[in-house]
Amino acid sequence: MSDERELVIVSLYPRDMNIYGDRGNVLALERRARAHGFAPRVVETNPGDAWPETVDIVIGGGGQDSGQGRVAADLRARGDALRELAAEGTPMLMICGLYQLFGHRFLTHEGTELTGIGVLDVETRGGSERLIGNIVIESDEFGEIIGFENHSGDTVLGPGSRPLGRVIQGAGNNARDGVEGARTGNVIGSYLHGSLLPKNPAISDFLIGAAARRRYGSFTPVAIDDSTANRARAAAKRRPR
Ligand code: GLN
Repeated sequence: MSDERELVIVSLYPRDMNIYGDRGNVLALERRARAHGFAPRVVETNPGDAWPETVDIVIGGGGQDSGQGRVAADLRARGDALRELAAEGTPMLMICGLYQLFGHRFLTHEGTELTGIGVLDVETRGGSERLIGNIVIESDEFGEIIGFENHSGDTVLGPGSRPLGRVIQGAGNNARDGVEGARTGNVIGSYLHGSLLPKNPAISDFLIGAAARRRYGSFTPVAIDDSTANRARAAAKRRPR
């Protein structure tokens, strides 16, 4: 048996919630975890699938309103388990459609209410304006975060979540507040596709570090060559919106 330390990454609803390359987040995280000396194991969980016994990181992507409708009931059924994992400090990254469903509710443009699981203190309404384009935000913890947004959901934060970052270029949670994403404990919600993690290794390191500390009590990061990620960041930043 290898003495490598395992990290179990649950990929939530890859069949329905995986748009604009969000699967790239799972691939980037897997590769990054390996580079830091861990043995990542990805468990894809679609509606009805059993969960693994140990969960170290949970990753979820975006999708159309219809995809959100297909997973919402299954997500609610796992609500207690996910709220418990979040309260214990399990790191999670939820993009766009699942960011919305990790909040309290998503009211679609057509007036359908999808009840979320309230891990994040946010609420979303489908708007008439679509917010599309490359986006740059600034976060105290992660520095500049670069991605691509495409949503009509208008998200508002409550006091139980703080923004992931301040918007430098683009829209973010809505067209008014100048902030993007939500953070409660080690759970991050964000509209940034792109994929997000290949271009923002600082967030991968945060997820891996939090998971490693929780499961093994420590995390000693390995120096990794980020020159390719840095070139991708520079190219995305130069692109017009
Ligand atoms: N349906 C949601 C919206 O448009 C989510 C979109 C997405 O995940 N890209 O707001």
